[in-house]
Amino acid sequence: MKDIFGSEGLLAAHHEAYEDRPGQLKMAEAVLNAFKEERHLIVEAGTGTGKTLAYLVPAISFAVKNKRRVIISTGTLNLQEQLMERDIPFLQEILPAKFSAAYMKGRANYACLYRIKKSGDQPILSGLDEMGHFERVSEWAFESETGDRAELTDLPDDLPFWSRINARSETCLGQQCPDFEPCFITRMRSRAEQAQIVIVNHHLFFADLNLRGNEYGKVIPDYGAVIFDEAHLIEDIASDYFGVAVSSFQIEELARDADAVPITDAFAVKDLTKILTKVRGFADMFWSRFSEGRGREGRFPLDRNSIERRTRGGETEPTRLGEAYQMLDENLDRLLKALDVHSDKVPEAESLVRRIRQARFDLKFIVGQEEENFVYWLERRGRGTFLRASPIDVSGLLEEKLFDKVKTCVLTSATLSTNGNFDFVRGRLGLDSGRTDTLLAPSTFDYREQAIIYLPRSMPDPRSQEFTQLAAGEILKLLKITEGRAFVLATSFSSMNALYEIVSSRIDYPCFLQGTISKTGLLERFRETPNAVLFGTSSFWQGVDVRGEQLSCVIIDKLPFAVPTDPLVAARTRYIDEHGGRSFFEYSVPSAVITLKQGIGRLIRSTTDHGIIALLDPRLRTKGYGRDFLKSLPDARITTELSDVEAHFKSHTPLRELERGAR
Ligand code: SF4
Repeated sequence: MKDIFGSEGLLAAHHEAYEDRPGQLKMAEAVLNAFKEERHLIVEAGTGTGKTLAYLVPAISFAVKNKRRVIISTGTLNLQEQLMERDIPFLQEILPAKFSAAYMKGRANYACLYRIKKSGDQPILSGLDEMGHFERVSEWAFESETGDRAELTDLPDDLPFWSRINARSETCLGQQCPDFEPCFITRMRSRAEQAQIVIVNHHLFFADLNLRGNEYGKVIPDYGAVIFDEAHLIEDIASDYFGVAVSSFQIEELARDADAVPITDAFAVKDLTKILTKVRGFADMFWSRFSEGRGREGRFPLDRNSIERRTRGGETEPTRLGEAYQMLDENLDRLLKALDVHSDKVPEAESLVRRIRQARFDLKFIVGQEEENFVYWLERRGRGTFLRASPIDVSGLLEEKLFDKVKTCVLTSATLSTNGNFDFVRGRLGLDSGRTDTLLAPSTFDYREQAIIYLPRSMPDPRSQEFTQLAAGEILKLLKITEGRAFVLATSFSSMNALYEIVSSRIDYPCFLQGTISKTGLLERFRETPNAVLFGTSSFWQGVDVRGEQLSCVIIDKLPFAVPTDPLVAARTRYIDEHGGRSFFEYSVPSAVITLKQGIGRLIRSTTDHGIIALLDPRLRTKGYGRDFLKSLPDARITTELSDVEAHFKSHTPLRELERGAR
């Protein structure tokens, strides 16, 4: 690895921005060792370590020497594209060993040729204005090499008809499809089968892992090792895919697709129409009864006795919801039988029978709530209602399906450790300590020089009434020092909106608010607008990269504890407590530490960045658990004095002006 990463190595000779990074070399050696020794590895590699090359080079070396495919799984499409468009071509050019690589996105990103052809017979457009977009997509689909909708850069992101022509597994006819050969999924799979390195994202990886062995779902070819980048996201994504979900959209879509099955027998069509009317009616009743007494949007736990209750005599009887469920289920069964008669001759009927069977099975699983290790919950979002059952603890499933089966899994991210160790992530994911090595790869950033951490001396408890007003006061003082150029990261939409209301009305700097336009659009505006201030929550805490003086200050209002009433969080904490643990210290604090590190990580993105990290929550200093957060902060100077912050910021001002002059 020294021949590649060392100061006289290949990278130094070919990369104009080469820097000697001891952390990168250490990480590359650790990854290579994990491959050789067939062990798992967890690496925390802070921003600036150069972690992508540090895992790609040993992965390529392993794949080429051992003729074993390596999967690289990323948390976001952005990173997936960066690897495919930048890092892989660069290594293909400079490494002596020749290798092939392919990328695979989730099936829903690709067009389904069969459904596009069929859509000519069915009304899938909701308005005339969609006609132009649909014609453009149809033309493109028959010319495109990949069928990846990312090629359609001139069309809006949210094409309403895309879900009706994409290649997702539920609607796929598999080998019975007349377009199976030219199908984009078939072609993508065959490209991946010929590649030694395959780049996927976590959603596709876990969807595939859950479906391995199922002819309709599996897309990723067999592999010898996996590298997970942005591995801090794995637990939640795995939990989604190992869980079960049924939505109101899904039942609507089943009914709509059943309406369009090409059956020619007039009696059968009449019968089907009658059944569909009933399915739709009972589905409406079912979803509306689920929503009774609940808010318009949000995530709610499902009551254990939601479909059955015990009578005084000790018998059970269905609740109002239970009655609606029974009627819906009976009519789905009738629909299934009516379609099954045509399954032999009509592939669409066969595919629908499979989908209805699965939907009934999943609904029964969720409303029955018999599996103890799952949490059952309801989510209302926009027009849709989603019923879900999620495994409370994915560690056993991951161990069984992944870590016991694949000899080397490397998990890396800028935020995996808490308190300087990996016990939390190892425990949550089920990585056996006897088979797992760990590494904290040092960052190349000089945090003592580049940043200062400000903890205001006299903030009240964040639950108190006056907290928001006083937090806004601190934000105003900080923005005066940095002349805007800040992210204000809040832990909830209500805090974000309240801080925005107060602060934006008292400053002249341009203020942007999450949710007003798309995240990408907001970031573009922030980068282009001098002295801007961006107020964000959730999605701005991670995966956001703004370099240079435009982002000189990151202000965080409160410690980012997960919402304790969220059904999944509540189930996880209850599970830990019931198993003799202390969920607050074993789950709530370490999860919040990792989220806080993500938020803080927005500030310093290169060796020339400088700035202020302000943490307004006093619990960092006043509570015992605050030490766990303090120990996980970057090695920058910590102060409670605004004058220190100002002095630090000013000490870098001449440099900033020089940089500006040079531009
Ligand atoms: S094989 Fe499946 S995804 Fe591919 S074109 Fe046919 S139905 Fe669509």
